[in-house]
Amino acid sequence: MITHLYRMKTDKRIVIIGAGLSGLTLAYALKKKGINASILEATDRPGGRIHTHTGIAGTPLELGATWFSDQHPKLISLLKELNLQKFPQFSEGISLFQTKSFEPPQQFFVPAGEAPSYRIAGGTQQIIKALQAQIPADRLLLNTMVTSIKEMPENLLITTANGTTLEADIVVSCMPPKTAVSSVSFSPALPENVRLILHHVQTWMAGAIKFVMEFESPFWRDKGFSGMLFSHSGIISEMYDHTNAEESKFGFTGFLNGATAGYSQEERKMYVVKQLKELLGDDILRMTAYHDKVWVDEELLYSNSPDLRPHQYNGHQVLHDAYLNNRFYFCGTETATLHPGYMEGAVLAATAVAEKLNAITCK
Ligand SMILES: Cc1cc2nc3c(=O)[nH]c(=O)nc-3n(C[C@H](O)[C@H](O)[C@H](O)COP(=O)(O)OP(=O)(O)OC[C@H]3O[C@@H](n4cnc5c(N)ncnc54)[C@H](O)[C@@H]3O)c2cc1C
Repeated sequence: MITHLYRMKTDKRIVIIGAGLSGLTLAYALKKKGINASILEATDRPGGRIHTHTGIAGTPLELGATWFSDQHPKLISLLKELNLQKFPQFSEGISLFQTKSFEPPQQFFVPAGEAPSYRIAGGTQQIIKALQAQIPADRLLLNTMVTSIKEMPENLLITTANGTTLEADIVVSCMPPKTAVSSVSFSPALPENVRLILHHVQTWMAGAIKFVMEFESPFWRDKGFSGMLFSHSGIISEMYDHTNAEESKFGFTGFLNGATAGYSQEERKMYVVKQLKELLGDDILRMTAYHDKVWVDEELLYSNSPDLRPHQYNGHQVLHDAYLNNRFYFCGTETATLHPGYMEGAVLAATAVAEKLNAITCK
């Protein structure tokens, strides 16, 4: 039994499940209110759907969340609070659109002054690192997958895959709702109508394949290209320049056709290089790193069945109710009523749950 993890101003023990952006933001928001919570994370790294891979030359390469905009004020103010910088996505020059494999690509230009997409300087993982630094190290337990939550007369009993048990007064799930209902056994079971909905809450980007490439120089910029590509005909469906904020490290990031999830990484790399060699020339062969990540069943995402439409049941009322004698709450980006699925949704959800818990613990 782990007992030392949580003590707070009201003596209520709060356990957060999942150290993605929502779980860490919630722990940080509670800490600012004088409430210490503990976080249990199934995998060996915090971040969840935020995953910055470092290239051979040290380029921050995003395999998960990358972009946000002025429509995302909560995320932007959290970045400011944590002293992190944002910078606009590069889009100057010729962009390409491949409509058919037997026709040359169409060229287009992103108009100057268009509302920009931003990236986090140093990589999206910087927000995870900065939040983690705000939380006492012994409050974050990695490699700790929650398998069951049982209602006891006085509290909730959490069991983990490595056999430990914890008692908590309040448990907050910062897992995607579909993951929570698929991977955790609840006793008593959650109401049937709630379970039915949870299985159909779409997890944003589950099933996506993101790829990254690193180069020593931005040869495409030198040839007048923006690095932006949309394609209906090649393995790459979307691609963007991935030069760092200081413009000293270079690369591409983008999405691959989901149908290639069953290929090996080497096969996907071969088709990516083939497509880009035809569009940008032999310089593509000078890449220093290629990496991709298939977000199917990765990080316990429980990839979505095809009947789920984007953002289906995101923000649904059942995600805002409390369960297990008002001791269990849902958080996580898919619970947000605004911008669910995105980093903004994760921050909004965490802020809302922190307010709710603060009200309860102050009673
Ligand atoms: C490829 C890709 C590209 C994306 N691009 C963008 C983008 O450009 N802009 C944007 O705003 N958003 C983007 N997103 C979405 C963004 O990543 C998410 O909105 C955000 O990171 C979600 O945070 P979260 O904490 O709600 O969930 P998650 O990041 O999914 O965190 C959940 C955590 O719970 C853990 N967990 C699961 N089950 C258990 C268990 N049983 N016990 C303990 N821990 C458990 C997981 O390991 C994970 O760490 C993208 C996502 C992906 C995958």
